[in-house]
Amino acid sequence: MASSLDALSALCKRRGFIYHSSEIYGGMPGFWDYGPLGSELKANVKQAWWQFTVRGREDVAGLDATIIMHPKIWKASGHLDTFADPMTMCKECKKLMRADQIEDILAEQKKKPVPHNPEGTLSCPYCGGEMTEPKPFNLMFKTVVGPIDDPSNTAYLRPETAQAIFAQFQNVLATSRQTVPFGIAQMGKSFRNEVTPRNYTFRSREFEQMELEFFIRPDEAVEILHGHVVTLADNPDLNGPVQDDWGWEVWHKYWVEQRKKFLNAVGLPTEHFVEYWQKPDELAHYARACVDIEYDFPFGRQELEGIAARSDFDLSQHQKHSGESQMVFDDPLKQAAKKMDEAARKAFIEKTQADWVSRGKDPIEAEKFCLALFEGKYVPHVIEPSAGVDRLMLALLCEGYEEQNLSEDPAKPDVRTVLHFSPKVAPIKAAIFPLIKKDEAQMKLAREIFTKLSKKFNVMWDTAGAIGRRYRRQDEAGTPWCITVDEQSTQDGTFTVRERDSMTQSRMSYAELLAMMYEKLEF
Ligand code: ATP
Repeated sequence: MASSLDALSALCKRRGFIYHSSEIYGGMPGFWDYGPLGSELKANVKQAWWQFTVRGREDVAGLDATIIMHPKIWKASGHLDTFADPMTMCKECKKLMRADQIEDILAEQKKKPVPHNPEGTLSCPYCGGEMTEPKPFNLMFKTVVGPIDDPSNTAYLRPETAQAIFAQFQNVLATSRQTVPFGIAQMGKSFRNEVTPRNYTFRSREFEQMELEFFIRPDEAVEILHGHVVTLADNPDLNGPVQDDWGWEVWHKYWVEQRKKFLNAVGLPTEHFVEYWQKPDELAHYARACVDIEYDFPFGRQELEGIAARSDFDLSQHQKHSGESQMVFDDPLKQAAKKMDEAARKAFIEKTQADWVSRGKDPIEAEKFCLALFEGKYVPHVIEPSAGVDRLMLALLCEGYEEQNLSEDPAKPDVRTVLHFSPKVAPIKAAIFPLIKKDEAQMKLAREIFTKLSKKFNVMWDTAGAIGRRYRRQDEAGTPWCITVDEQSTQDGTFTVRERDSMTQSRMSYAELLAMMYEKLEF
C-alpha cells in the first residue's frame, strides 16, 4: 500500500497513468488527464461497474444522458439553491479555502487548530492571518447555450449524473419492460467548481461518477401487498435473491453489501474500508439513511462512495417542478388493495397517518397517499449507490502500490515497484516476450500468440532488454501475467507464464493460458 502520494504520483506520471491537464501551459488545479495506462485502468473500472451493476442483473437498465440539461432540473433538485460550500478567504495571504476543511488542512500539517478570536473562528492554516466570514459558494459550473450571452440562456454542467436518471425515469420505465423494484444506472462526467481541489485526483473539478438509482415501492405498498414489511430486525438473507417483501431499510443495506462485494471484486479488501453510517443530524432532510464507504487513503480516511436512501424526494420534486406525473401504476398492488374492505382501508389510513405524523409529515397528505396506493399508484422511493470513478482508481492505485525489497543483502537493496491490481482492472492483462530476439522461430511464435491474445485482451509486446528488466517494467504497470516464448515453446507449443505477485513461473499451452485468463477476468 502506498504510504504517501509522492512516490505513487511520481510512478503515475512516469508510467503514463495520470498527468496534469494542460501541463505544457502550467496545468490547471483540479483537472487531470489519464495517459495510456490510466485510460485503460479507467475503462476497466467502468466496465467492471457496468457489468456488476447493469449487465449482470435483470433488474437494472442503463442510461447515457447529456451533461448539459434543462436548468430547471437543477432548480427542482435543489442544486441551484443549496449546492454550495462555505468559502472563506485569508485577509493576509488571500488563499481561498472551504471553512469546513480548515481543520483537515491543519491535521495534514500536523498542527492543532488555533482559534483566531474568542468566538472560536479559525485563523489561516497557511499564514495565521484573519479569515473572512464564510459565504456559500455554488459549485456548479455555468455556461451559455446558444450564441446570445444572456442570463436567460444560462445552463450548467451537471454536478452529478443522478438527476438525468430522475428526469428520464418515465421514458425508461415505458421502454425497458421493467417494473418497480428496478434500477437505472448511468456513468459519466460530472463537474464541480470545488473551492480547494486537493489530494491528487481525490477532489477534482472534472471527474466521473457511476450512479445507480434503484426504485422501490414505499413500505406502505409492500404492507398492502404482503401484509408485512421485512426489516433488518428480521435478519433477511442479503446474499440470496432479492425479495418482494423487503422494506426500504433492507434494500438500503442490500445495496451497501452489493457495493462492498464490488469493491472486493475489483481489489479492495474489506479490512481497508469502513462503513460510516451518517448520524440523524448529518442526514439531508429527505434522507432516511446514508452510508459512506470510507477508504484509508494515505492522506487519511475519506469517502470513497455513498449509498443513500432518499425516499421519494427526487421524483416528487421533478413532479412538482415539471408538472409531469412521476407516479407508477403497480397492478399487483391494486389487486391486493381490492381485497381490503372499508374497515381495513380505514385502519390502514389511520396507521399511516400516525406514522407520518411521528416523522413530522402532514396527515392530509398521508391520506391522499393511501388513496392513491389503493388505486395502485405511487411515486417510487429510491436507494442511490453513488461512486466516483477517479476516487476508486486512486484507491486501487494506493492499495496496489508496493516497493518490495527482494535483496537479502542490506548493503545492496533490490527494490521492485509493483502495482498489485486485480487482473479484472489491470490496464495490461498480459505481456508477451520472445526470450531471444534474434531467434526467428521464437519471434514468429511469440508474435502469433500476441496477435491472437490482442483480439481478446489489452496485451503488450516487449523484446527490449533482459527478461528480468522486462518483468520489472510490467510489475510497475500492474500486468498480472508475463508470457515468455523460449526454445521449448518452438518444440512443444508451451511457454512460461510468470505471475506478478508470487513471481512464480509455470508452463502452459495456449488453451490452458486462455482458460486461466478467462477464469480470473470473469465477473
Ligand atoms: P465530498 O463530501 O467528498 O465532497 P460528496 O458527499 O459531495 O463528496 P456525492 O455528491 O455523494 O459526494 O458524490 C458521490 C461520489 O462522487 C463521491 O462519493 C465521490 O466518489 C465522487 N465525487 C464527488 N465529488 C468529487 C470530486 N470533486 N472529485 C472526485 N470525485 C468526486
